[in-house]
Order: sequence, then structure tokens, then C-alpha cells
Amino acid sequence: MTGGDLHLHSVRSDGEWTPARLVREAKRAGLSTVALTDHDTIAGLEEAQATGEELCVRVIVGVEISTWRGVDLHLLAYGFDPTSADLREVLRRCRDGRRTRAERMVAVLARLGAPITMGSVERHAGEGAIGRPHVAKALVEAGHVSTIRKAFLEFLGEDRPAYVEKVRLDPGETIARVQAAGGVAVAAHPGIYGEPESFDPLVEAGLDGVEILHPLHGRKTRAAFDAYAIANGLARTGGSDFHGPRGTTPPIGRIAIEEAWIEDLRERIGRRREQARTIHE
Ligand code: AMP
Ligand code: ZN
Ligand code: FE
Ligand code: FE
Repeated sequence: MTGGDLHLHSVRSDGEWTPARLVREAKRAGLSTVALTDHDTIAGLEEAQATGEELCVRVIVGVEISTWRGVDLHLLAYGFDPTSADLREVLRRCRDGRRTRAERMVAVLARLGAPITMGSVERHAGEGAIGRPHVAKALVEAGHVSTIRKAFLEFLGEDRPAYVEKVRLDPGETIARVQAAGGVAVAAHPGIYGEPESFDPLVEAGLDGVEILHPLHGRKTRAAFDAYAIANGLARTGGSDFHGPRGTTPPIGRIAIEEAWIEDLRERIGRRREQARTIHE
């Protein structure tokens, strides 16, 4: 087995599949390594690890954190200590913010003549971190729109009337806290935010890596960020950002990073864990 997919979403955030199913599909696709990167939660980690052990698929600890510095910026964190009280607190703040935000969206939707209940949104979110896809499902269920896509087009897209900003952390602060917990911080799908040079301030703040392989990155974007990563000594990662078979991403296995990138990332995590231990002792 060879190659890794380090960007996967499960039912613990807004994905369709369980963590176990994702690991099984990765195994079937011939991948050696995966990381579950649910939004703002590591609730799926134990299940992914248990399935990984059973099937001999390496599972790297991961999470995708929404941050904000004038622009939306998703950070992927890898290899941190999942028992870190500080990082758990950071993720809890994000999830609490998601709930408050969903309540505000529900209130706006009522004013717009598309009433849904918070209970219905919560049911769609299950035990996962609440997001717009769950509000979209509630809108479909209530009969206000016929598809999730239309829910985004009419109500929930960033320039639509029921869009509400998420509570988002400062990226520099997030990088520092991920690193203090023994993890490495990687810019998710950087190509959708801008040119590689626009990441200079984050590299200055200690950013450890950039995601190179991602379904939203074309050949030119991959090449530009690859050169940027090499020039700045950054780790290179990648993944499918798979949310489920009904999403727009390719099936698991189509996007796979090479073993050398995985090894480099694991070495960086090992060094960071060592540092975090020394500092805490
Ligand atoms: P949130 O993190 O709550 O803002 O929700 C973001 C998620 O909504 C993304 O990860 C996608 O899964 C989903 N999403 C965003 N835009 C669209 C869209 N136009 N159609 C369907 N799903 C979308
Ligand atoms: Zn998502
Ligand atoms: Fe993202
Ligand atoms: Fe993602």
C-alpha cells in the first residue's frame, strides 16, 4: 500500500461517511496513510484509529480549523497530542461558535419566510460540529428548497441573505497553539486564497506546511505552491477533502500524496512533539 490522503471529512463534521468507512475505503483504494480532518473536532479520531489498527492503515491525528485574518483561512493541524487541554478548549470554542451561528441563521431564515427548527438542524448534524450543510438539509426537509445546492444558492452561500459568519480564530494564534500541543500547522487549499507570496506572513508566524494536492488546485497552482514550499522549507501535503460520494470531490484514492511527503511530515511531527514535551517538562 502506498500514498496518503490527509484531508477527509466524516459524519463527525459535515461528511457523509463514518470515520471507519473512510478508513476502509482508503484501504480498498490502496492507501497506506490517512488523516481525518473534520472541521473543529476530533470526535472521530478514536474510531478512525481503531479501524486503522485493524486494517493496517496508518492514521495521522488531524483536524481542520477555520481561522480568519481579513480572509477566511482553513488550517489543517496534524500530529498534535489529542489529549491537549488547550487545543481541546480551542476546538470547543469553535464548535460553540458554530452552534450560536446556526441559531442566528435559523432566526434569519424565519424572517425570510423559510422557517426551520434548531432541532431539525441538530438532528442532521448528529454528534458532529454544526455547519451550513446541516442547515441546508433542514431547509430541504422543510420543503423550502428542493436540493442542498439550491439551499446554498438561495440562502446560505457567502453572498446570500442567510449567511452568517463563523467565529474564527486568528491564524497566528492557532498555529502557535497547534504547535504547543505538539502538532504541525498546514494551510488548507491555499490556492483558493491567493498567490503563494500572500502566505509570507503566515510562514513568518511559523506555518509548517502547505497543502499541494487538492481537488480545487489545478496544475499551475500545484506547481506554484510546490516551488514556494521548497523555497521556504515547508512540508507538502494533500488530500481529497472528501465529504461523501455525493460531493464534488473525486473518490478516495484518486488524490494521494507520495510516501516521501508523508515521511517528511511525520519527522516534523516527531520533532515538534519532542519540543512540546521539553517545554512542558
Ligand atoms: P461551514 O463550515 O459551516 O461554513 O460550511 C462549509 C461547508 O459547506 C463546506 O465544507 C462544504 O461542505 C459546504 N458548502 C459550501 N458551499 C457549498 C455549496 N455552494 N453547495 C454545497 N455545499 C457547500
Ligand atoms: Zn466541510
Ligand atoms: Fe476547508
Ligand atoms: Fe476540508
